[in-house]
Amino acid sequence: MRRARWTLPAEVGAPVARGTLMDGRAVAAKVRERVAEGVRALRKQGIVPGLSVVLVGDDPASAAYVRSKARASEELGMQGETIRMPGTTAESELIAVIDRLNADPSVHGILVQMPLPKQIDPDVVRRVNPSKDVDGFHPVNVGKLLIGDSGGFVPCTPAGVMVLLREYKVQTSGANCVVIGRSNIVGKPMAALLIQQGTDATVTVCHSRTRDIASHARHADIIIAAAGRAGLVTADMVSPGAVVVDVGMNRVSDASHPKGYRLVGDVDFESVREIASLITPVPGGVGPMTIAMLMENTLTAARRFAERRAA
Ligand code: NAP
Repeated sequence: MRRARWTLPAEVGAPVARGTLMDGRAVAAKVRERVAEGVRALRKQGIVPGLSVVLVGDDPASAAYVRSKARASEELGMQGETIRMPGTTAESELIAVIDRLNADPSVHGILVQMPLPKQIDPDVVRRVNPSKDVDGFHPVNVGKLLIGDSGGFVPCTPAGVMVLLREYKVQTSGANCVVIGRSNIVGKPMAALLIQQGTDATVTVCHSRTRDIASHARHADIIIAAAGRAGLVTADMVSPGAVVVDVGMNRVSDASHPKGYRLVGDVDFESVREIASLITPVPGGVGPMTIAMLMENTLTAARRFAERRAA
């Protein structure tokens, strides 16, 4: 039986309309404005935050992400650099580039775009100096996140989800959260953020071996879907009034679309919107937040650099 219950923030006072959109573009614009202010302040001290993105190979989706990241950093007054390497690049060549960027004081953030070609071990990202690891993938930063040390970098997508939840005043304390997906870049750090003291959610992490995802999801006040499976979360899995955050980005064929495909999330948006209190659209939900948080992490890296230099 469905529980007729609304997950609503204490601060809001009145229930939000059913199916209210969490507007990632609007919230990301606010974050970017805050970052732009921070960049202006740092520039006055003679420091221009610098982000270097390394793209190996010519995967079209990766190339598009890299272009968006470079554009965002330039728009915010940062020094954006994209280093393009051929798909045949040897691991040692990529390591040499990372080492050079690690040693360059004008580079504050380094991002190696995933996925990498098969001949390169993805663990190569561990070569990035943790103080420049604005993706938050280095084991040092992963460890800091787990122990609640705010001195590291949090992976951008789950960090963006947290900002969205805060912006829409979603009460996380004591809430039952179901995270679907356990990847190192989304699911695991998402779960780690939600259980931190101060956020205080009770978290269940589901994955491809979970026996009955629906039964877990139906008890959730907050569902975070990050499996990369279109249509995975259906209306019957959602408790009335739950908050639904859709991280998934899946291409589905659509002949009516100029590109021949369209982007959808993991959530069956139209039906779930009728039941959820708050829901993120795809596109326009979590995606813009990811880039905004990358900009914020780069600003943070540059600020820490300025502090170390001044000490
Ligand atoms: P990933 O590395 O492929 O991980 C997917 C996770 O989902 C795995 O843990 C997998 O379980 C689980 N899973 C797969 N099928 C499942 C199913 N049918 N039921 C339950 N769990 C299932 O993907 P990712 O990098 O975390 O990304 C997840 C999705 O988010 C993708 O669509 C990706 O494009 C999107 N994404 C979006 C953004 C953004 O900015 N919006 C950023 C990053 C990723 P196992 O571990 O058992 O295999």
